[in-house]
Amino acid sequence: MTDKKSPSAIVLLSGGLDSALAAALLKSIGVSVTAVNFSTGFCIYQHRHRTSLPNEELSPLFDAASRVAKEIGVPLRSYDISSDFLDVVLNPPHGYGANSNPCIDCRILMLKKARVIMEETGADVVATGEVLGQRPMSQRKDTFPVIERESGLRGRLLRPLCAQYMKETDAEKSGLIDRKKLKNFTGKGRGPQIRLAEELGLKDNFAPTGACCFLTDMSYSRKFQDKLAHSDRKLTMEDVELLMVGRHFRLGEKLKLIIGRRFRENVALERFVRGRIRMEAPDAKGPVGIIDECVPDPRQETLCGSILARYTDARNENSVKIALSFPDGSGKTIEVTPLRDDDLLGKYNI
Ligand code: SF4
Repeated sequence: MTDKKSPSAIVLLSGGLDSALAAALLKSIGVSVTAVNFSTGFCIYQHRHRTSLPNEELSPLFDAASRVAKEIGVPLRSYDISSDFLDVVLNPPHGYGANSNPCIDCRILMLKKARVIMEETGADVVATGEVLGQRPMSQRKDTFPVIERESGLRGRLLRPLCAQYMKETDAEKSGLIDRKKLKNFTGKGRGPQIRLAEELGLKDNFAPTGACCFLTDMSYSRKFQDKLAHSDRKLTMEDVELLMVGRHFRLGEKLKLIIGRRFRENVALERFVRGRIRMEAPDAKGPVGIIDECVPDPRQETLCGSILARYTDARNENSVKIALSFPDGSGKTIEVTPLRDDDLLGKYNI
């Protein structure tokens, strides 16, 4: 792909404004850009798309990277890195941010992968849309050099939006990329980015910065940390995906109940039934429930059933039938009294 007469870059393209600007800016100054997008398995828009119902209208942001690449006019390569990413999420050497987001290690992982693509294609730099001081964990003066060093990109990692505050890359030193044409953005303000987008003719159809990762979401993070604390085996992608669906109740050291909050979640929960216990109230309108982690004893079955009954339209009845289907194909029906809100709310919810 490389025309050695002109510089070339591998640009991490998330679908957000900053990485789009980095790609468009480099292209506008004569750099040959190849965009790469890494799918982590924790993208909120992609999850909504995966669990959507037929004919459901959804945000087009689930494939923001490909739409943005098309708008800028650069080729895009997409990679699923969810397996390697899960290892990082479960054990991040640089720790978590405000929630369960291991942003520093996430950047290192993506940049290592981008470095391999850069070396395979003969590109000169890997570039990102990072802005100094914009994000509290990974976009700081002290973390930038760590990320550069640990990704193996010393001298080859270009941050075009704040390049004038960074050490020169090899490509700038040799004159291959003109440093004067790069930017000096800092901080959380969006004004300079919006003006640059106008200059470069980019339309406003970008994913909101940092808002599309489940790991930055406080509610998801609580469920993730609860699952980690109660699991004595390595979590799988299925485990972490199940945390994206429904209301979650911690009922015991090894007992969890998950209940769909709306029709599409009930449909989505059916994907996770295998190997778990499925519950529903056959005579009432209401959600699907899944008992996770252990085979409950009769007292625990009744507790799970009475919580599920609380979310049916028979919540004010004295007795509601609950059908349980077990992983071995067997089933049974129990009668429960719906749990009162006083006995439920704030007590079991994660
Ligand atoms: S918010 Fe999520 S995807 Fe973004 S850098 Fe942090 S961990 Fe990675």
